[in-house]
Amino acid sequence: MPASEKKILLLGGTAEALELARRLSKNTRLPLIFSLAGRTQNPDLPDCETRIGGFGGPEGLATFLAQNGVALVIDATHPFATRMSANAFEATKSSRTARIALVRSPWITEMRDLWHTVLSIEAAAKALPAGARAFLALGSQHIAEFANRADVEFTLRMVDQPQDMLPENCRVITGKPGATAAAEAWLFTEHEITHLVCRNSGGTVGFAKIEAARKAGLPVIMIDRPPPPEPPRLTSIDEVLRFIDLACRSS
Ligand code: NAP
Repeated sequence: MPASEKKILLLGGTAEALELARRLSKNTRLPLIFSLAGRTQNPDLPDCETRIGGFGGPEGLATFLAQNGVALVIDATHPFATRMSANAFEATKSSRTARIALVRSPWITEMRDLWHTVLSIEAAAKALPAGARAFLALGSQHIAEFANRADVEFTLRMVDQPQDMLPENCRVITGKPGATAAAEAWLFTEHEITHLVCRNSGGTVGFAKIEAARKAGLPVIMIDRPPPPEPPRLTSIDEVLRFIDLACRSS
């Protein structure tokens, strides 16, 4: 990769992407473009060129790569953001642009965990017993999948207040995931939660709720991951930085 004019496009939406962008913008001579889908109001942004909003599918992304002289795409999107990852694969393949995916490791169940693993949100909705008080650690766009569970009370935590009206059996608390297991445990007690429903996102940011459920013996309906992005895949920020360093040295 010639370090003079070529750019890196970093597809974000995760804590790791933000951290990587912050470290990259300090440590490399390569100009960086940080990209977000635009789902969150007032997102934290790194100190580099930033763009917000979709590209218009794989074709739109391929055009963006060509127009902006992008030499490397880093797909650091969420493990469940499968469309963006597929688009990144397709666009980089058709435009012959280098790509790597940063995929954090999933959470692993331990002896004390009461996980019921399911493969979809629909299956999670079916797995909840009647009378449950479920904490849904999912976006409000997924509440529709739980619409026929009038026999369950739901608590959702959202970064921003949802725009749409939610069913009567859904209560929303706004805020980011709790930083500690103690904070999450307090929330579960406060809302008399009997079940946690979440995705196996992995990473440290959302782990406190898993730890809190573990300590409290709370059943977790765990939605398993979809297939990961196409290789090459790296699992840590340090590995990505090493990869870029080596690529720059060999160019
Ligand atoms: P998705 O279904 O894979 O992507 C939907 C569309 O959103 C993509 O086709 C693309 O639009 C646009 N998009 C997604 N990520 C983008 C990015 N970093 N920069 C520019 N455009 C992007 O993704 P999603 O599940 O809706 O998630 C949206 C974003 O939120 C992702 O960036 C993801 O990292 C983050 N996120 C997702 C989850 C989750 O559970 N899915 C959780 C936390 C954070 P075009 O086709 O028009 O380019």
